[in-house]
Amino acid sequence: MPQTDALPANAIEVRGLKKTYASSRKAPAKVALRGVDLVVPRGSMFGLLGPNGAGKSTLINILAGVVNKSEGEVRVWGHDIDAKPRAARAALGVVPQEIVADVFFTPRESLEVQAGFYGVPKSERRSDELLAALGLSDKANAYVRALSGGMKRRLMVAKALVHNPPVLILDEPTAGVDVELRRQLWEYVRKINAEGVTILLTTHYLEEAQELCDTIAIVNRGEVVACEPTDQLLRRLDTRNVVVTPAEPLPAPPALPGYEVAGRPNGAFAVTYRVGHGSVEQVLAAVRAAGVGIRDITTEDPDLEDVFVAMTYGDASRPAPTAD
Ligand code: ADP
Repeated sequence: MPQTDALPANAIEVRGLKKTYASSRKAPAKVALRGVDLVVPRGSMFGLLGPNGAGKSTLINILAGVVNKSEGEVRVWGHDIDAKPRAARAALGVVPQEIVADVFFTPRESLEVQAGFYGVPKSERRSDELLAALGLSDKANAYVRALSGGMKRRLMVAKALVHNPPVLILDEPTAGVDVELRRQLWEYVRKINAEGVTILLTTHYLEEAQELCDTIAIVNRGEVVACEPTDQLLRRLDTRNVVVTPAEPLPAPPALPGYEVAGRPNGAFAVTYRVGHGSVEQVLAAVRAAGVGIRDITTEDPDLEDVFVAMTYGDASRPAPTAD
């Protein structure tokens, strides 16, 4: 586990991060990140959620030192990736999206080679411990090509952990993974998180982020559009506002039993209700019951709504369909 002295408050800090992929003969230049600010506190289980093409992999690849950023500052475990690239990289374990199998090695050899690559001394290697933790002990000496897809993926998790990094990144870890393996993988990820490893995972499944993560950042079209504790974010997704302009100016927004009411400019006020537990009609009835005449109303969906429309639609680079 990470050393206990001088631990950074944040496992990852990203400020003003921009990335434009250069144009090529085949494709024009592509803006992937438009100025991302993101802080992943040490010890958290942090979800990066967004539709395909939102910029999640670009962000992760910049953290991992695989893609060069265009602008901005990035720190991993307190190390600036420009000033201290090696230290930053050593603090990270990355489980990539694609399964990369070393067909010439057994799982044990594969872990030993990886440990060598990171300069982990033989006495500090823990290949067998990792194989056991990921349910691969009985395959330690098998040909990697004889492993099932699920076993290969678990081996990739083990490989990402050989150098005992304090931060583990999982990029779309359950894409194409069956339910049973998903459960096992999550159990293990929760365990190492409880032991102190900070986890950052990307997913385009809200459910996955919701089940696992204490905090969720939503990325859409190269921007972080929300970053909140999971329960707070879910509550926000579940609410709608009715903005009421009263017929006569009021000294203060009215108190409406059972509703949250907030003042808005020009004497208007917003009434929040939960979808499935209320309706515009009910809100208006409550406003009238409070003795307030209504001049005008508008309704507001949460900003996140369009992100989720885009997620269902599956491609953030194309405009999302309009709701009606
Ligand atoms: P996500 O991981 O959220 O699906 P990506 O980071 O892969 O999103 O992609 C963000 C945007 O950058 C997309 O529009 C994608 O087409 C583009 N992109 C990603 N990688 C490259 C690359 N190597 N060259 C050019 N454009 C890229």
